[in-house]
Amino acid sequence: MIDRVYVCGQDLEVIEEPNMQHTKQLLGRYDLLQGHILITDGIARHIQEQTLVHELVEIVDCLFELDIPHDKITTLAVAVYMVIKDNPHLMEEIAK
Ligand SMILES: [Zn+2]
Repeated sequence: MIDRVYVCGQDLEVIEEPNMQHTKQLLGRYDLLQGHILITDGIARHIQEQTLVHELVEIVDCLFELDIPHDKITTLAVAVYMVIKDNPHLMEEIAK
């Protein structure tokens, strides 16, 4: 898992959090004031990755006040994750 992510002007630490599953938290959550995204550990890597993308979409939704319903955020995040996975060269190409 990467340890930092930059999204729409927010430089966020990505932290694998051991206790999240026991506190009935979701698989991930973000806190822009604290400057971090928490991702539960002890789950499959691809689920962690999907959770991170989900949190990133939620952050975009928050920052731009889009008010996207949560089920739509979930669908959008899964689609974005699939596009990234299906095009491993894409991020590298865009970042040039
Ligand atoms: Zn969510």
